[in-house]
Amino acid sequence: MIKLEGVSKIYPGGIVALRKVDLEIAPKEFVTLVGPSGAGKSTLIKLIIREETPTEGKIYVGGKDISTFKPWELPYLRRRVGIVFQDFKLLREKTAYENVAFAMEMCGLPTSQIMEDVPNVLKIVGLLDKAHHFPHQLSGGEQQRIALARALIHRPDILIADEPTGNLDPINAWEIIQLLIKINELGTTLILATHNKEMVNLIKKRVVTIKEGQIVRDEEEGQYII
Ligand code: ADP
Repeated sequence: MIKLEGVSKIYPGGIVALRKVDLEIAPKEFVTLVGPSGAGKSTLIKLIIREETPTEGKIYVGGKDISTFKPWELPYLRRRVGIVFQDFKLLREKTAYENVAFAMEMCGLPTSQIMEDVPNVLKIVGLLDKAHHFPHQLSGGEQQRIALARALIHRPDILIADEPTGNLDPINAWEIIQLLIKINELGTTLILATHNKEMVNLIKKRVVTIKEGQIVRDEEEGQYII
């Protein structure tokens, strides 16, 4: 479960990115975050992954208040929360397989586990047949699938997708959204931040709308209205 209680974020210089936000996301929920540029969506995500700390308020992930986490407690969060971005952040000189395997090596996981898990996650994202292709040999949608496979290696409870379809054409974008829905149905809490109005209205899940640092709408089967 994710819970924000009275969370505000004021950046140096006095810019108020979030003001007294309360938000609860239940395990296995699919939540779409929408709002105009500058509304505070990225800040909210950065707070959940502890890339930023709140100026005030508490943030609970899986029952722990992460706003008071010490550096040595961060691996707890890195295991529980996976993230993908608009620019896939893949290593260009490594194949699909190697991109996923490398992330596991960096976490010190044993070779035996890497050899077992990489094909499994590539299968979940439908890319097993292109495991040995390099990013430049793959479409944008396929590259985003590798990024998703890499985010899934820790079997995270929570997956955050920050504008994951921003660089994709409508067909690839919709395929990625369907994959996110599938990952959610397999039991992962999903937080999707997007500007893609058509997608949001097709997904028919909870929509949280942020404007000027505050939640202005929060609706089950919500629509993109900003
Ligand atoms: P969104 O993701 O909805 O576009 P952001 O969370 O990126 O919104 O930004 C919210 C507000 O905080 C904006 O006014 C933005 O300019 C400001 N902001 C974001 N990051 C920083 C930062 N590191 N330093 C100062 N201001 C920032």
